[in-house]
Amino acid sequence: MNFKCLSANNVCLAPEVLLTHEGVKHDWAIKYTGAKVTGIGPVELYPEAEKLPGRAVVPGFVDAHTHVGQIFGKALIGGEPAQIWRRIWHPMERDMDQEQCYLSAKWAFWEALRGGFTKVVNYGLNSFHKNAGVHQAALETGIRLVSACGLDEFSGEIGTGHGNKNWSEIEDVILKHIEHCEKHELISPSVCCSSFMGNSPETLSKLSALCEKNKILLQIHSNEHFPELHDSILAHGLRPIELLHKHSVLGPHVLLHHVTLVSEAEIELIVETDTAVSYNPLASIWKGNAVAPALRFAQRGVRFGMGSDTTSADGFKNLMAAEACQRIEHGLPIADFSCGAAWTWVEAATAQGAEATGSAGNHGYLKEGCAADFLILDMMAPECLPSHDFEWELVRYYNRDQVDAVVINGQLCMAQGKPVGWDAEELRLSGLSQAKSITSNSEIVRLHGPSSLYRS
Ligand SMILES: [Zn+2]
Repeated sequence: MNFKCLSANNVCLAPEVLLTHEGVKHDWAIKYTGAKVTGIGPVELYPEAEKLPGRAVVPGFVDAHTHVGQIFGKALIGGEPAQIWRRIWHPMERDMDQEQCYLSAKWAFWEALRGGFTKVVNYGLNSFHKNAGVHQAALETGIRLVSACGLDEFSGEIGTGHGNKNWSEIEDVILKHIEHCEKHELISPSVCCSSFMGNSPETLSKLSALCEKNKILLQIHSNEHFPELHDSILAHGLRPIELLHKHSVLGPHVLLHHVTLVSEAEIELIVETDTAVSYNPLASIWKGNAVAPALRFAQRGVRFGMGSDTTSADGFKNLMAAEACQRIEHGLPIADFSCGAAWTWVEAATAQGAEATGSAGNHGYLKEGCAADFLILDMMAPECLPSHDFEWELVRYYNRDQVDAVVINGQLCMAQGKPVGWDAEELRLSGLSQAKSITSNSEIVRLHGPSSLYRS
């Protein structure tokens, strides 16, 4: 296949399988003109369609939660107990300069594209200068980005910055960020904050009101680890989501990350306020305290996407973990073998993930009027044959080496694992040379250390 044709102004494809927002379709075609899908339906209606036997076209995955500034430290966390952010991430990320932020973000986007992600939601208390680097990386790779900014009131105490900040300093960072993102079609602004651990309840209320007014996403890690829960109860007499609700922080513009240690009453507050959530199954397996009750979220109509949280930027591995975690945690004890019937996780990784991260209706779906963000998958690998049920196969058998092409907003960004329009070897060399200094920051504390220490 000539992948370059995928960036043409008018493209019409007839794959063996097309995953639409109504489910799997055979003998259908999809047409896009420029950045938008302009037609989708039975192949007879599209005689001009290029036949793609043995290939599937599916919406691109959305990574609803990751930290592109942490990518070089991803292999430092093996064996580390929870609350890594205090010992590794904050000291590592806090003082990265613009060039380091650029290299780290571009590397993260490189991994994301290889893993089938067409949209990434970044979390970070980024300044204008850090984002200049992150945005350059996004523009060069062509990825869709929810960009992060923020300044905690108690920055020094929480470790995301230095000293205390007043509201006008916090607001200034946010307003500049919104302005900075405006000129880029594929970059939308968002605000991050370290919840009650880095801010007073009054500041959290103001942050939420400002985000709501500007129609941008407010990202907060919530109910992730035991110490956070405990501190919230000790300091405020409430669980974290109860506290956020009391101070009118929750709402459709808020994205809560993790939400693993969550009570039924807190789930009801999420439902009542239409707050969105990211489910991060690999993060639970590798560095968490618990698994989020994602099946319960689905049942109660909570809008949730799936996040990698700088574990592995492999959309397929995340899909597999999403189902596996629910099977082990919630399915096995009650003999539920379906556990979301595969499509629940595919939806969370695509359309629902796009909606939960602030883009209702304009991408994440393969339907007319939506952006042409999609993957072409090779269906001919023996692991995926014979095909009986495509969505189960997608959850359990597909692998990132089957991603033939990644198209974002009608532009080819990666073909057979190779980036389009930029040099991967150049990034490998410059990234690795900076990674060394980033990951050897003297304030990083590893409690477990390398695995070789534990060989007897
Ligand atoms: Zn996180």
